[in-house]
Amino acid sequence: MEQARILKTAIPGPRSIRLHARERAAVAGGIGVTLPVYVERAAGGIVLDVDGNQLIDFGSGIGVTGVGNAAPRVVDAVREQVGAFTHTCFMVTPYEGYVAVCERLNEVVPGDHEKRSALFNSGAEAVENAIKIARYHTGRSAVVAFDHAFHGRTNLTMALTAKNMPYKHRFGPFAGEVYRAPMAYPYRWPTGPQRCAEEAFAAFTAQVHAQVGEENTAAVIVEPIQGEGGFVVPAPGFLAQVAQWCREHGIVLVADEVQTGFCRTGDWFACVHEAVVPDLVVTAKGIAGGLPLAAVTGRAEVMDAVHPGGLGGTYGGNPVACAAALAAIETMRAEDLCGAARRIEAVMKPRLAALARRFPAVGDVRGRGAMLAVELVEPDTKTPAPGLAAAVSAACHRQGLITLTAGTYGNVLRFLPPLVIGEDLLREGLDILDSAFAAA
Ligand SMILES: *Cc1c(COP(=O)(O)O)cnc(C)c1O
Repeated sequence: MEQARILKTAIPGPRSIRLHARERAAVAGGIGVTLPVYVERAAGGIVLDVDGNQLIDFGSGIGVTGVGNAAPRVVDAVREQVGAFTHTCFMVTPYEGYVAVCERLNEVVPGDHEKRSALFNSGAEAVENAIKIARYHTGRSAVVAFDHAFHGRTNLTMALTAKNMPYKHRFGPFAGEVYRAPMAYPYRWPTGPQRCAEEAFAAFTAQVHAQVGEENTAAVIVEPIQGEGGFVVPAPGFLAQVAQWCREHGIVLVADEVQTGFCRTGDWFACVHEAVVPDLVVTAKGIAGGLPLAAVTGRAEVMDAVHPGGLGGTYGGNPVACAAALAAIETMRAEDLCGAARRIEAVMKPRLAALARRFPAVGDVRGRGAMLAVELVEPDTKTPAPGLAAAVSAACHRQGLITLTAGTYGNVLRFLPPLVIGEDLLREGLDILDSAFAAA
């Protein structure tokens, strides 16, 4: 597919509009759609819709298709596997692909210690399993999560998630023994970014000590860069302090790298930037080039604690998804997609910084690698401007650029281009963003 933006109709075009009318009549109303452009094909950094429009992809299906859509190695591996066998259930009659994915994960996840992995279907399911494992290993029940966290939409992961609308509203009661602590959010830290790490860590430890008790705490779960919460990069040093404190108290540190993993932030995992080695790492999104797969990887003694049969699931580590993951990981290595993410940052960060100088509504520019965001506010204040974020995003959509919003206050524009996106498309997307800001 030609890697070029082509607009043949208004966005969405007439065929998409007709399909969307069918969607309204057939699909449950609780499933929201960001941009009702119906997809026919996608490749690299381009999405082709049913009206013949080619859109630039700054979303990667929420950080999933880092290797590009329909990545050639992934397509070949899936074709071969689907013709061989589609499912036996690994817990009934196993197959090599599952083992090979676990071997790869044990290699790429941070830390020199001996590791084990287990495979699941979705990020939320893997997070739930990481908590099961941490509880079993420690014999404790409490779990601490952070402000602005997002960990999924199942009952336990809703409890871990910080944001009410749209994730939790009217879906309670939630799982118990989940406690929340402040996140070291530099832009919004009351005394400013300089003392953010130190003060947030002090507040975190004081709160857990007073309200939960270290000896009752099984796990602390953290996104090393927060995703849905607005691409919050914790103040430098905060994660390392939390990790050290967890070690001192025998608490399992779980890094939710579902959105940050697999080269997205310029390294295999975002923990690496902070030199943090978590006990358990949860992965999903970028792992398999778009096929549903998720994993928990971590210290052998923690992972192996659970009795045989205590973990699993019918589809977890499906052979087609495993074949896709092996091909995706091979692509990341062969094409140095961590380097590609750093090059994307080198192009995008200065442009976003320039945007911030021109438009006082851009309060903060942050992120790493190909996981970047701008936080929008009322000029000269820090009052969130979610309406402006929605307007800029809509203007981008009309010009054929797929963008996403995020943030506890809905005021963050986030960018997650495929790591294989061509530099011309990247620059064209940034030009569209510029004009969308000027228009809004
Ligand atoms: C998307 C996401 C999840 C949930 O993953 P699903 O596959 O949607 O269940 C969990 N944690 C983080 C950080 C995510 O970005």
